[in-house]
Amino acid sequence: MKTAFESIIHRYWKDANTIPSFVNGEFIPGSGEDIIIRRAHDDSELFRYSDADENIIMKANKAAKDAGKVWWGMSAQARGQIMYRIGMKVRDLLDDLAIVESYASNKPIRDAKVEVLKVAEMFEYYAGWADKLHGEVIPVPTSHLNYVKYEPLGTVLQITPWNAPIFTAGWQLAPAIAAGNAVILKPSELTPISSLLLGALAHEAGIPKGLINVIAGYGHTAGQNAIKQADIRKVVFVGSPATGKRIAVSAAERGIPCVLELGGKSANIVFDDADLDLAVRGAQAAIFSGAGQSCVSGSRLLIQESIYDRFCEAVAQAAKHFVIGNPQDEATQIGPIHNAKQYKHVTTMLDSAAQEGATIIQNGLPSVPQSNGYYVNPTVLKGKNHMFCAQEEIFGPVVVAIPFKDEDDAIAIANDSRFGLAGAVWTKDVGRAHRVADQVKAGTFWINSYKTINVASPFGGYGESGYGRSSGLEALREYSEVKSVWVETARTPAANFGYGANL
Ligand code: NAD
Repeated sequence: MKTAFESIIHRYWKDANTIPSFVNGEFIPGSGEDIIIRRAHDDSELFRYSDADENIIMKANKAAKDAGKVWWGMSAQARGQIMYRIGMKVRDLLDDLAIVESYASNKPIRDAKVEVLKVAEMFEYYAGWADKLHGEVIPVPTSHLNYVKYEPLGTVLQITPWNAPIFTAGWQLAPAIAAGNAVILKPSELTPISSLLLGALAHEAGIPKGLINVIAGYGHTAGQNAIKQADIRKVVFVGSPATGKRIAVSAAERGIPCVLELGGKSANIVFDDADLDLAVRGAQAAIFSGAGQSCVSGSRLLIQESIYDRFCEAVAQAAKHFVIGNPQDEATQIGPIHNAKQYKHVTTMLDSAAQEGATIIQNGLPSVPQSNGYYVNPTVLKGKNHMFCAQEEIFGPVVVAIPFKDEDDAIAIANDSRFGLAGAVWTKDVGRAHRVADQVKAGTFWINSYKTINVASPFGGYGESGYGRSSGLEALREYSEVKSVWVETARTPAANFGYGANL
């Protein structure tokens, strides 16, 4: 895999052992502090590179401002055609990009393929929107014509996490440029490579030089520097709740808005009338796929009392068929925890759950490879909703199973969380399914399903899971300014004062 990775990277920059930024159509090495990335499978060093310095950020700011004007000056059809070409390029290079994502971002190769394909779909979907994002005429009194236009914000800053790097980059880049913006993207310092390649591919597809700039560096340095650039009009942040709050403060200090796509502690609710085989499979997919390192993981499994013990055992037993291993092996279904810091967090949370009195079930589950890697065995914790492990994001293959009495109890427990990203219900009672979907406070909710997503459907959080929306038409609105234009049409216009409100 390393050789394949190196030959792909050599097409873009000379030394595959280091990581530059991509600014104004060129790869530029940073000169800041050393950043070291380790391999999650065996803790060996993967890359060492220099943080992006202030000069790089200033160049990106200038390049984005110039490119944004060129891009918005093009016809909407031409912008759409270029975006469609980006999608096709990603499709053509799917296997290569998946190798890069798996090798450089510690992600199982089979997950990487699925996520790269989704990136192609995102550019194709938003390519179609580029010439359909039109304004509207508002029915005001006939003395006036009022129309509403959607305009780009200008340059937007996107800051993204390590858990799904190329997916998150495509998810935010595609609507941003479809709405006419230029972008500075700051991926996680741990996983910048696939985002850099996506930026380069977009340039090959024909976007103006500098429309997409990708910064390889730390958040507290490069990310904060970027927020301070005068031309940044909005920050779209995907990451942890703690960092999200800091970003919101930094954006507020600049007087600019932000979108926050943060973490969750989503309730996956199983009633005793559900198709239990399906619900077991759903519960496993909800928490164990991606080793639980997904913002929408069904990390609280709410099970009706009558089936509680049986269902917990079934989830644990069925998981023994998973292949846990090296992310680069095609057979691997569950890889290691992404990085040493996250591994420490997951294992500390497991210790604290045991101290709080949660019962740990790992019997029947597959054992992890004997390497120095950051592997955690898929785990079911029998616990209660007030426990720390049920209230805080673990972001690992650990589900807290919580019993409930009836529908009202299930809804109350589901909503007893400061988060509200996603949730699900498993039942054959159609009325109940919709009542529960109606009352659980979450931005995405599934009925007899889990983790189904589509670029056309809006996504975002309630409560401390964030604000603003990504995907679908909502994302285009997030990336647009709205302008209301008034035209006086009366034969004898009124004086300019004496009507309207003094807003
Ligand atoms: P993180 O908050 O540590 O880092 C996210 C990004 O913020 C990185 O690019 C990092 O460099 C940057 N950053 C860190 N400190 C910064 C600062 N002071 N100023 C500016 N930028 C800064 O998150 P993570 O550990 O990379 O990702 C895991 C988290 O992301 C989990 O909480 C997960 O739930 C969340 N997540 C949410 C979604 C969603 O759509 N809601 C999707 C994926 C992941």
